[in-house]
Amino acid sequence: MTESVAEIAIIGAGPAGAFLASRLAEAGRDVVLFDPKGAWEKPCGGGVPTRALREYAPLFDRTDYPRKLIRRVTLISPVMRRITIDFDEPFAIYSRQVLNGLVLDRALEAGARFVRATVADFQRAADHWQITTADGQSWRARFLVGADGAASASRRKLVGIFPKQDLALAFGYNVTMSEGQREEVVVQFLRDFTGYVWAFPRPGVMNFGVASKLGERTSDELRGILKRFVADYFGGQLPGEERLSFFGAKIPTLDYASWRGLRTVGDGWALVGDAAGFADPITGEGIYYALRSAELMAEALLASPAADEYHAATAKYERDWRAAFGHDLERAARRLPLFYRGRFCGRRFTDAMILLAKYHRGVRRVLVRAVVGYQSYATLKRELLRSVLRVF
Ligand SMILES: Cc1cc2nc3c(=O)[nH]c(=O)nc-3n(C[C@H](O)[C@H](O)[C@H](O)COP(=O)(O)OP(=O)(O)OC[C@H]3O[C@@H](n4cnc5c(N)ncnc54)[C@H](O)[C@@H]3O)c2cc1C
Repeated sequence: MTESVAEIAIIGAGPAGAFLASRLAEAGRDVVLFDPKGAWEKPCGGGVPTRALREYAPLFDRTDYPRKLIRRVTLISPVMRRITIDFDEPFAIYSRQVLNGLVLDRALEAGARFVRATVADFQRAADHWQITTADGQSWRARFLVGADGAASASRRKLVGIFPKQDLALAFGYNVTMSEGQREEVVVQFLRDFTGYVWAFPRPGVMNFGVASKLGERTSDELRGILKRFVADYFGGQLPGEERLSFFGAKIPTLDYASWRGLRTVGDGWALVGDAAGFADPITGEGIYYALRSAELMAEALLASPAADEYHAATAKYERDWRAAFGHDLERAARRLPLFYRGRFCGRRFTDAMILLAKYHRGVRRVLVRAVVGYQSYATLKRELLRSVLRVF
C-alpha cells in the first residue's frame, strides 16, 4: 500500500480542525485534514457569539455565506416571566453546513490538503503517527490533532471518553420557513432543569432545541419538552413532517471537578474544540472555543518550528488555553448548579435574573454581555448584585 506523508494530521474538519488547518497552512506548514463529511449540517444551533465575530472578523466578514444577524433575544423564566432585550452589536446564526463550509474553504484556499474519509485508526511509531482511513488510505504524520467533536474517537484512544457527568444531551428540529419568520432568538429556562430550550432563526429555517445534563431527563422527556415548545411557538401545533428535520447529539459540558485534571495534550498529539471538552458548561456554546483553541494550537506549533520541539508546543498550548478561557469555563462549571438550580434574591436564579432585568438597566447590560459572550463567569454574580444594589 502506498503511504502519503504530511507533517501535521488533523482528524475532523469542523470549525476547530478546519480553522487550525487554515492557520497552519497560511504559515506554510504541511497539513492534512480528514473528515468523511466536509461541510455538513452538524446538529447545532449555529449561534456564533459577538466575541467570535469580532475576534475573527476576517473570517466572519465574508458576506457570501448567508446568516442571520440577531439583535433581539427574548428570555423566558421557569414561571413564564419574559424579557426582550435589544442590543446594538449583533451575534450571528448560521446553518452549520454554511459555517463549516466557510471555515473549510479558508483551509483549502490556504493550501491544506483535505481527505474526505473517516480516520479508522492511528498508531504511534518511533517519531511519527501511522494513520489509516476507513477507505484504506495510509498516512504518516509527525504531529496528530484530534478535532473530531464530542464523540471523538481520537479522544477515546488517547485519553478515554468523557464520563456521563461531563456531557449534555441535546435534541432539536430544523423547521423550514417560507414566510413569517421572526428575527429574534427565544431562550426558555425550565423548573428543576439543568439546561434550556431555544428557538434560533437562520436563513429560511427555524432551529429549535433542548439541552440538558446527560442522565438528568430521559430522551423521551426531552423530546416531549421540545415538541411542546415548538408547538407553542407555532400557535399550538407542530409544523407538518415535511418541514421538520430532527437531530440529536451530545455537547461536552464538563463538571467543575473535571477541569483541573483535563488532559488535552501528550507526546506528539493534542485535542482541540469539542474533542478537548471546550464548550461552555452553562450555555453549551462551543464554536468560539473551537476557533480559539485552534488558534492557540496553531500559535503554539508555529512558535516551535523544529519538529522535535512538539513537546514545547504542547506545553505552550496547555498553558495558553487555560489562561485564555479554561479558568473561566472552570468557573462556569462551578456556577452551573447556582445558575440552573440555585436561588438569588429569594427566587430561582434564572427567574430572579429575568425579573431584575425587567427593571434594572444594569442587570440587562450584564445579561446582554452574557448573551454576546463577553460576561466573565468569575464576576457574573458579583456584577448582577452590584447592578441591583446600585438601584436600591
Ligand atoms: C444541539 C446542539 C446545539 C448547539 N448549539 C450551539 C450554538 O448555537 N452555538 C455554539 O457556539 N455552539 C453550539 N453547540 C456546540 C457546537 O456545535 C460545537 O461546540 C462545535 O461544533 C465544536 O466544533 P468542533 O470542530 O470541535 O467539532 P465538530 O463541529 O463536532 O466537528 C467534528 C468533525 O469531526 C468529524 N469526524 C468525527 N469523527 C471523525 C473521524 N473518525 N475521522 C474524520 N473525521 C471525523 C465530523 O464529521 C465533524 O465534521 C451546539 C451543540 C449541539 C449538539
